[in-house]
Amino acid sequence: MPAPLTRLLSRRGTLPLRTVTFPARKRCLHLAPPFLIDPPYVPSYLTLPPSDEPLKRSLAHSHLSNCNLCPRLCSVNRYQTTGVCLIGAETVKVNTIAPHFGEEPCIQGHNGSGSVFFSMCNLRCVFCQNHDISHVRSGFDLTPEQLGEWFIKLQDVGNVHNINLVTPEHVVPQVALSILHAKSLGLKIPIIYNTSSYDSLSSLSLLSGLVDIYLADFKVWSPATAQRLLKAEDYPEAARDSIRAMQDQVGDLKFTPDGIAQRGLLVRHLVMPGLESESAEIMKFLAQEVSRDCFVNIMEQYRPAAYVGGPKRAGGESKEKRYQEINRPVTKEEVCSVREAAEAAGLWRFCDPPRHDGFNI
Ligand code: SF4
Repeated sequence: MPAPLTRLLSRRGTLPLRTVTFPARKRCLHLAPPFLIDPPYVPSYLTLPPSDEPLKRSLAHSHLSNCNLCPRLCSVNRYQTTGVCLIGAETVKVNTIAPHFGEEPCIQGHNGSGSVFFSMCNLRCVFCQNHDISHVRSGFDLTPEQLGEWFIKLQDVGNVHNINLVTPEHVVPQVALSILHAKSLGLKIPIIYNTSSYDSLSSLSLLSGLVDIYLADFKVWSPATAQRLLKAEDYPEAARDSIRAMQDQVGDLKFTPDGIAQRGLLVRHLVMPGLESESAEIMKFLAQEVSRDCFVNIMEQYRPAAYVGGPKRAGGESKEKRYQEINRPVTKEEVCSVREAAEAAGLWRFCDPPRHDGFNI
């Protein structure tokens, strides 16, 4: 028998406090009032006091002048040169801007998510599923003002549910400036920061008050795996710090009654071949150090891509491929074991098909 919950109540604040005992309730996957928001939802940037905007603008420019925005800590003046991410200060390079229907149902809704795919990345994942965008400088250059005008087109012409900034870690200052510009032009839909979680706390602090939803990957747990597959040994530590900070800013994922996510944290985890034990550690971390009510998408669509499965550089006659250990799709058993580990850790809000008509909120 589960332990009862106890609460102290006071009527009109005048009577002495008395103890009332409620039976413990089992959590269920259906309508969850604590995670519902009364419409209309007002995005964070619309509640940011106008007096705070000059400070955001000034911080954005100062980060670009001495860039330590991500854990790479390049310390370069991006108005004059570039760091590891190879993107300067005046513009961002954008590969695609369009309503997108490949996201979670609560993000894409009926009209799509207004996605902006930025070119380049501050990680170098050898298996990157979007390597044609994130490993190659491709697309067109936009100033923050031009980017903000695209947000308005996505909202007014595309009728999308949100603005979804995909892989924006290396262009956070430009993104902050573009959100402020779009606000002045009439933007009124939520902003999604869709990140690998290789962010710095100062970068997330710049985004505070501008972003509504953090769509955060947590990729691998061990520094050795992170070094081999992501080329960033400090990734697990950076991701832990970033995801804790995101949760502090926006809390658990919340929806309006139409099933569209409006505010909060959604964590994505791509199950990798042979790395179930690392996945289990990630699930434990989320349950114990972020929130047992964290909304998690355990993804099974890994496929060998980018450098995985290519010929070894000095392979000679050898038939061995690069990154052979992840040169296969994941199995059903691997995906199931990660889901079981997540449930064993206490997580319960997953991106599953709903058991009723409509969205799973
Ligand atoms: S954002 Fe780019 S320049 Fe700045 S620290 Fe990261 S990799 Fe280096």
